[in-house]
Amino acid sequence: MRNRPKVVLVSIDSRFIHTNIALRYIKAFTKDLEYDCLMMEYTIQSPLMDMLDDILDCEPDMVGFSTYIWNVEQVSRISRLIRLARPSIRLLFGGPEVSWNAEESLMGLKGDYIIAGEGEETYRELIEKCLDNMETSGSFSLGDNDEVRGLATIRNGIPMVYPPRDKMDLARLPFPYSMDEDLSDRIACIEASRGCPYSCSYCLSSAEKDLRFRSVASVMDDVESLLKLGAKLVKFMDRTFNAHPDAAEVFRRIISLDTSAVFHFEMSPSMVNDAQMEVLKEAPPGRIQFETGVQSTDENVLHLIRRHSKGFREGLLSLLTLGNIHHHLDLIAGLPMDTMESFRRSFNEVYSLGPDVLQLGFLKIIRGTPMESEVKRWGMVHSPFPPYQVISTATMGRADVGRLKAAEKALDKYHNSGKFVNSLTYAASFHEDPLVFFEGLGNALDSEGYRVRSPSSDDYYRIFLMYSARVLEMKAGFEPGLMRDLVKYDFLLWNRRQGIPFFLERIDKDTNDIRRKLKREEGVVGHVEWFENDVVSHISGNERNPGPVAVLFDKSRTHGKIITL
Ligand code: SF4
Repeated sequence: MRNRPKVVLVSIDSRFIHTNIALRYIKAFTKDLEYDCLMMEYTIQSPLMDMLDDILDCEPDMVGFSTYIWNVEQVSRISRLIRLARPSIRLLFGGPEVSWNAEESLMGLKGDYIIAGEGEETYRELIEKCLDNMETSGSFSLGDNDEVRGLATIRNGIPMVYPPRDKMDLARLPFPYSMDEDLSDRIACIEASRGCPYSCSYCLSSAEKDLRFRSVASVMDDVESLLKLGAKLVKFMDRTFNAHPDAAEVFRRIISLDTSAVFHFEMSPSMVNDAQMEVLKEAPPGRIQFETGVQSTDENVLHLIRRHSKGFREGLLSLLTLGNIHHHLDLIAGLPMDTMESFRRSFNEVYSLGPDVLQLGFLKIIRGTPMESEVKRWGMVHSPFPPYQVISTATMGRADVGRLKAAEKALDKYHNSGKFVNSLTYAASFHEDPLVFFEGLGNALDSEGYRVRSPSSDDYYRIFLMYSARVLEMKAGFEPGLMRDLVKYDFLLWNRRQGIPFFLERIDKDTNDIRRKLKREEGVVGHVEWFENDVVSHISGNERNPGPVAVLFDKSRTHGKIITL
């Protein structure tokens, strides 16, 4: 045994851009202790055997994992491999996926320690006691008589769960990131509170009742530090950010920062108040993003999932009318008693609000939540594997769920990508039922074999053009040529190459002379394309000039500009 023991904390995220704040917190909370703590970051795609070599090459005495619904299978496999390769290494697990039933998780994962609940103080006491025990026995592990509140361990082959620990005072939280990290291409996370004021039956946070807040000063100190590390996207991890009594003041200070960074918050429209609205209307466009879980607009469904809805609709509409904030709204399919018809109403109502992103998710039966005990009551069949997604319910059959999956795929690729904004706006002026439109678009993708693989970029545009022309051709006033031009316009906003796909029908008119003239006389360099229709005036709501028109897409490609010849 070396003098200083070593702990490797392993984060496995869905994408490398994410940064695990939980492991950073426990590392920072113990940085004064006489041990070495390394963090190793992987994604769920990382090859297991490479991870194993990486971790073992560090020669750790203990390996800790942060365990979530999306990584529990990889955590289970890599920890088993470590156990096989080096049985003496202590295995520690924490996170929501193991906290709800520490005893079962300990046995299932064949771990040495499970932290149930908040990690910082429990982890610190575990390390302190392991260090003490190492002094006397030489082993970096808990002594036979050591007890740690909030921890579960194995004693004589039997799982032992110690009593829970009181929730910590958030004033004790350190700044979690190391000051030599580069956050310029990663999502920087921050917490202003812990706990949630609500009790939605499908959510593990509903069990956490101790809602606690950090001071505005400490939150803003952390924000300043994140910006010094180059953060461009700062994500507040709070379950309901604006439950914070000083939410308006945090918004005010963030809005007054001299930065181009974007700040993301999860909001409850029911808790939006006049003070927050007054401040938010001053936000520069692009500074603030809100994520709001609508889940359903059906009052009965909301009641059955114990979701607070008083003042929600009014608050959401107020936020949406501000016009300077990026809105991400969530809906969940498969909730108790939700039918295709009630879900269709929810979807169409929320889509009509014009969110920048509308995420259609499917209910997950998370273990340890009240919903888990209601599965039979609602006739739910769900996957036994993480993320435990619902397959069918008493009121929504498997085929219905399949139809919504098709809609979800098309919604994600076409609406949420932001790449079809002008084409979709035109289509929306002819179809009455957005959910049916997206379901059909998703089916069009599936029918070309794209259920389990992704189309090429060109195919997304081709399938959209073909599908929208087919379903809208009989609608009064629909112009297939204008739709083609709008798809071509959207394509050119996002694609910088010179050529365009054949189905967008390039007009055979010279653009070289125009480009040379623009460069010579105005110093402008960009792509010039001819359109049959005056798409630029159509998009801006002005009277259309007779076509064809030449449109310049400059280097920024944020919009096209008509060239007057
Ligand atoms: S779903 Fe959101 S609002 Fe509801 S309990 Fe969970 S964190 Fe709170």
